[in-house]
This record gives sequence, C-alpha cells and structure tokens, in this order.
Amino acid sequence: MKVMKFGGSSVADVASIARVVDIVRDNVSREGLCVVVSAMKGVTDEIIDLAKAACLKDEAYKERLHNLKKRHLSVFEAVCEDPAEYRDFVENQCGEIHSVCDGVYALGELSPKVLDRLMAFGELCSARILTLACRGAGLAARFEDSRDYIVTDNRFGRARVDFARTDAALNELNFSGAPVLVFPGLIARCTDGRVTTLGRDGSDYTAAIIGAAIGAEAVEIWTNVNGVMTANPEHVADARSIPQMSYEEAMELSHFGARVIHPPTMHPLTARNIPIIVRNTFNPSFVGTRIGSETAGRGGILTGISAIPRVSFLRLEGPGMVGVRGVAGRLFSALAAEDVNLIMISQGSSEHSICFAVVPDDEDKSVDVISREFAVEMSHQIVLPPAVERNKCAIAVVGDNMRSRPGIAGRLFSCLGDADVNILAIAQGSSERNISMVIDAADETRALVAIHSAFF
Ligand code: ASP
Ligand code: MG
Repeated sequence: MKVMKFGGSSVADVASIARVVDIVRDNVSREGLCVVVSAMKGVTDEIIDLAKAACLKDEAYKERLHNLKKRHLSVFEAVCEDPAEYRDFVENQCGEIHSVCDGVYALGELSPKVLDRLMAFGELCSARILTLACRGAGLAARFEDSRDYIVTDNRFGRARVDFARTDAALNELNFSGAPVLVFPGLIARCTDGRVTTLGRDGSDYTAAIIGAAIGAEAVEIWTNVNGVMTANPEHVADARSIPQMSYEEAMELSHFGARVIHPPTMHPLTARNIPIIVRNTFNPSFVGTRIGSETAGRGGILTGISAIPRVSFLRLEGPGMVGVRGVAGRLFSALAAEDVNLIMISQGSSEHSICFAVVPDDEDKSVDVISREFAVEMSHQIVLPPAVERNKCAIAVVGDNMRSRPGIAGRLFSCLGDADVNILAIAQGSSERNISMVIDAADETRALVAIHSAFF
C-alpha cells in the first residue's frame, strides 16, 4: 500500500483538487490507500498572520477570517452537491477559530498552543474537502482524523512524536472495503488531548509517520515541480530533475535550500528503507525523483547543487583562541542558548579564527551573544569583536559519488575561479558527500551556472 501526500499548491483551488482526485483514482489498489493533505495554498500563512494581527489589536482579523471562510465554503460548494455534508462542519470550525481569535485580540496574547489550534483549521478543511471530492467521483473515501492517531509531547508548534503509541494506533487502521483514507497533515494531539502541530511543512512528516507505521511500499510527495532538480531552475536554465538519489543525498540537498522535501520527514522512512518519491501533481505522467537506499548512480559525480541565497557570515578571531580549549564549546553553546541555528561552520588548523554562517535575522543576536560571552577576552584584546559579512550566499554541491574520488574539489574551485567567483569560506565534512562554500550573494547565479556546466 502507498501513502500519497498532496501539498498546498496541489489543493489550491477546485481545478487542482480535481487533478488530485484523478491521481488518487489512478492509484487506489485493492488493499486501500492513505492520502495526506496540506492546507490549501497560503492558508497556514494567512492564519498565522491574522492571528498575529489580532494579537496586535488589529481588527482586520475579523474580515480576514470571513474571507478564509468564504474561500473554503466556495470550494466545499464546488466539490459537494449536498450542503448538509459540510455546512455544520464549516460553521463549527469557523465559529471556533473566530472565538479563539477574539480571545487573542482581547488578551493581546498569542501562545504557540493557541496558534496550533488555529492552524489545524487549514488541514481539517482541506482533508474534508478532498474526502468529499473523492466521494463525488465515486471513490470510497473516508476522513480520518490524524489527531486520533498521532500522539506527541506538548512542545506546541514543533511537537515530538511518541512513536510507540502512534504506531500502535495506526496499526489499528481499518481498510475494509479498500477505501481511500484521507488524513489532515501537520496536526496531532498531545496526551492531554490538545491539538499540536509537527512544525512548518509538517504534512510531509505526517505522511512519513503513517507510511512507516503501516509499512507502506512507498511514500509519494506530490508537489508542483518535477521532483528534485540538479539546481534551482530560476538560476540555471538547463537544470534537470534527478531521477534517483539516496536518503543521505536528499538530506544534504534539502538541508541546503532545495526544499522540495522537509529533511526530518525522511527519518521514520529511512530506518525502514521505504522509498520517498517526489512527484508533480501538474505533470502526473512524469516519474519524479525516487529517494531511497541507492545513490543517483549514472556515473555522475554530483547529484545536485543547492543554495541558501542569503546568509550572514560571522568570524571570531584572536590570539587568545589558539590552543585554548573550550573556545568553540563556549561560542556554540552561547549561540545555542539563544536559539541561533548555524548553517555552516569552518575553522582552520591554526585555530586563530572560527567562522560560521547564520540567517540574516540571527545576525544581531549572534553578535550580541558573542560579545557577552567573550567580553573579558575582548577587553584584553586577545579575542576581537566578531566580524560580520552580509549579503552572502551559501552553496553546496552534493553527491555520494564524490567520496574517495580525488580531483573534485580541484575541478569545483577552478571552475569557480574561471567564472571569477571569490570564495570566502569552505566546509567539507569527512562524509565527503557535501562541499559547502560561502560566496557573495551577487555571484550566486554565476557560480551555479559555472558548477552546473562543469559537472552536468
Ligand atoms: N500547511 C502547513 C504549512 O504550511 C503544513 C504543510 O503544508 O506541510 O506549514
Ligand atoms: Mg505546505
């Protein structure tokens, strides 16, 4: 049995939903089918945004909720002839999020707990819509509430799954009559019954959790592009889709910006060796990208190139760092304590400096944290105030086939040299699966095109 997950763009409007229903129909098997669905395109963002507005005493949230309701009602109407089947549901859901938002407005407070309850609206509606649309097309479809199966802790906004309980619950799924079971993505429940969410883009994770629990033959992630591409087609005209790659390559690529698939998603599936197939709802005959235990193969060296278009690059340096134990520990612990995520790290063997990249939003905070942590050393000038370089871009080349193969870094850096791209920093771990570089953001396209034509 398969699990098929459809993203927000796949259910953005009535026409797209009709395509999804066709794809579902083509894939029902005798054993049944699990379908996981995201909120309709833009809905999660809109909910978060209007809740923030309510929190800031902006009455516009009322009008925005009204529009959200109108949008959903019009789609319900289009896919289902009998209003009795959805009216109460929509009224109840809308009534509930409206009163929650009124509370947020009155109190001027918006906790992650409340936000999770609000966000659930998007997936609950889209899953009901798809269920009705499938039924309208004669498919035996049933809505299944993910919250009745997926059990998490109470870290609202990014809850952790209790796999023992979740797997046990999912093993009780009933497929008799070979129906299509439609699950809302993203949402779950903690042990005291409140709604939790699995983090932004959490619907992929929902699909993986279900796929792993039922031992699916594959989990298909249906999106709006032709699978994972060798490079961002907005920068590289001859970028092409990658037919096949390993889990590790997919993680390296998606950690580094090619966000077709959310990396933590893969974890329940890799352990059970269940393939993930990224496919295009708007080009369903295209095979897409298969992510599994095998590498891209085909004798190519690189599997893909990815980029984070905007990073800030920070450097801590000084004579007081050479041969001193604990400097890196202090630096990174202090940053971690303030919830700063490090995108890339590099230290040369002189130990005279440590450099790292963060998202631009974390730049000020990082400088603050470091200045506090190393205040004593800085007052003695044995560690200098952190140097910041803005408007940088981090590029990573990824491929299992780079391992134990001499000459690849050479080719990579000469092609960048020929293209007149200056490299600020480089990092390669001993997995040899990823070489990351920081360059000027203005050089991004030039660098991607140069690497792509040198290696593909
Ligand atoms: N709708 C949720 C989000 O946008 C979950 C998902 O689409 O995967 O984050
Ligand atoms: Mg989404």
